[in-house]
Amino acid sequence: MSQAQLPGVGVSPGRASGPAVKVTESISEPATTPSPEDPHAEAARVAPAAQTVAARIEATAATASGDAATILTTTAAMAADPALVSQAEQLVTAQRIPAARAVYEAANNFAHALTSAGGYMAERVRDVEDVRDRIIAELLGIAPPGVPVLTEPSVLIARDLAPADTAALDPDTVLALVTEEGGPTSHTAILARSLGIPAVVAVRGALAFEATAVAVDGDAGSVRAVDPDAPPVAAASSGPAEWNGTGATADGRPVGVLANVGAPADARTAAEAGAEGIGLFRTEFCYLDTDDEPSVADQRAAYAGVLAPFAGRPVVVRTLDAGADKPMVFLSPESEPNPALGVRGIRVAFDRPDVLDRQFEAIVAAAADSGAEVSVMAPMVATAEEAAWFTDRAHAAGIPRAGVMIEVPSAALTAHEVLDAVDFVSVGTNDLAQYTFAADRQLGAVATLNDPWQPALLRLLSTVGAAATGKGKPMGVCGEAAADPQLARVLVGLGATSLSVNAGSVRAVGASLAGVSWADCAGSVRAALDAPTARA
Ligand code: PEP
Ligand code: MG
Repeated sequence: MSQAQLPGVGVSPGRASGPAVKVTESISEPATTPSPEDPHAEAARVAPAAQTVAARIEATAATASGDAATILTTTAAMAADPALVSQAEQLVTAQRIPAARAVYEAANNFAHALTSAGGYMAERVRDVEDVRDRIIAELLGIAPPGVPVLTEPSVLIARDLAPADTAALDPDTVLALVTEEGGPTSHTAILARSLGIPAVVAVRGALAFEATAVAVDGDAGSVRAVDPDAPPVAAASSGPAEWNGTGATADGRPVGVLANVGAPADARTAAEAGAEGIGLFRTEFCYLDTDDEPSVADQRAAYAGVLAPFAGRPVVVRTLDAGADKPMVFLSPESEPNPALGVRGIRVAFDRPDVLDRQFEAIVAAAADSGAEVSVMAPMVATAEEAAWFTDRAHAAGIPRAGVMIEVPSAALTAHEVLDAVDFVSVGTNDLAQYTFAADRQLGAVATLNDPWQPALLRLLSTVGAAATGKGKPMGVCGEAAADPQLARVLVGLGATSLSVNAGSVRAVGASLAGVSWADCAGSVRAALDAPTARA
């Protein structure tokens, strides 16, 4: 048995092992050859393949609920559609082409018809393409594209996963996640951490790794082949660190220990973990799979569900950060050459202020429903003017506290001016690193540049910290940097008044701060800033 080991970057802690399941990204266009020797026998393969696919989707629908169940039932009906099947059968016999090719062409004809019909019909095109690829995969005897339905606890191996796919992973069946792409601050990594699934990213050659079972070490960042007959091993959850639940240094200087959340379940877990509030509610995570702008009433209900466990406590709601790796169908432009540098975050709101205003309306209502002390903040702000535009609009909408994220280097460099325009700032170290190092946070090849210990990143943070301290305004840190218990101390020394982290890191960060005096935090800053390298 091979003992080969692949190195990567560990982004979500824990060790697990089990059968390896590879995620097929897309099905390539099936060939028109070879011509089937017996076209009638070839045509007869279409219907059973379509029925198998429909039955599989129906089985998944039976375990889903609400909208998901409705969508899956409709998709199953689409797979078994007699019109699709008979058109494909006719193509096989008339043109003497393989069944897979015939399904491809028949489904594309349907997709074109839906596109021409426009409106709701056009929105179903993606579903037809999904069904098409599944039937083709069945005919070709290959894995269907997308995250497969797991029949046993397994390790998923993918080139990368979209945030929407990662958010839908079931921690009971996904033992661990391995991707070829991605960095420590990619949204896939962030979601894996919040689900408690061990994950290693930037693993070159993971998809070509010939192992039917693998062991994943999310701490060390490695993947190795194991005996396929060995029973699967799920990650053991590490015992909670000792922390009294009050965010403060050992000598009593208060530092809010808050949580990053994106869904009601995260918020409940964060409250149970002892988070003192929410420092970053990624509202776009509620809508990654949504084609149309949610109504104010729907948004109000979704936000209230997240805020409810934090009644009477501070919650920072970030307005939609659509774009880049979190495209939202109803907001993001069709295509941009460099989406991370494109119309993302607050830039979308400049084009669609009506969407922002409706979100504010829903946030105000959800705050009243839940009793949480709500502030709002904008993502991807580059200048003080943009910051002022946002805070004025939020205040006018009746939201008492409004701030911005510092995640673009220009905003960090003009922190004085930005702070004059806002009630608080929160540093998004994930994007601040990405833009400072010109290193795509989703790209495995540049993952080490996105290390939050990089002195250049910390120097930018010190500029913001000095400005915030001088003006007596709060500076939070809500990027993944804050979740490193050692770095948390440096961030506090740099002037952070709160740290917002995934629920699993709340206690460790709280305990780390409680174990050190404010003077020690401040003392660690010089060493970190002057270090020649991140490792040093
Ligand atoms: C960040 O960029 O650091 C941040 C917290 O925002 P997000 O990860 O959602 O881009
Ligand atoms: Mg960001």
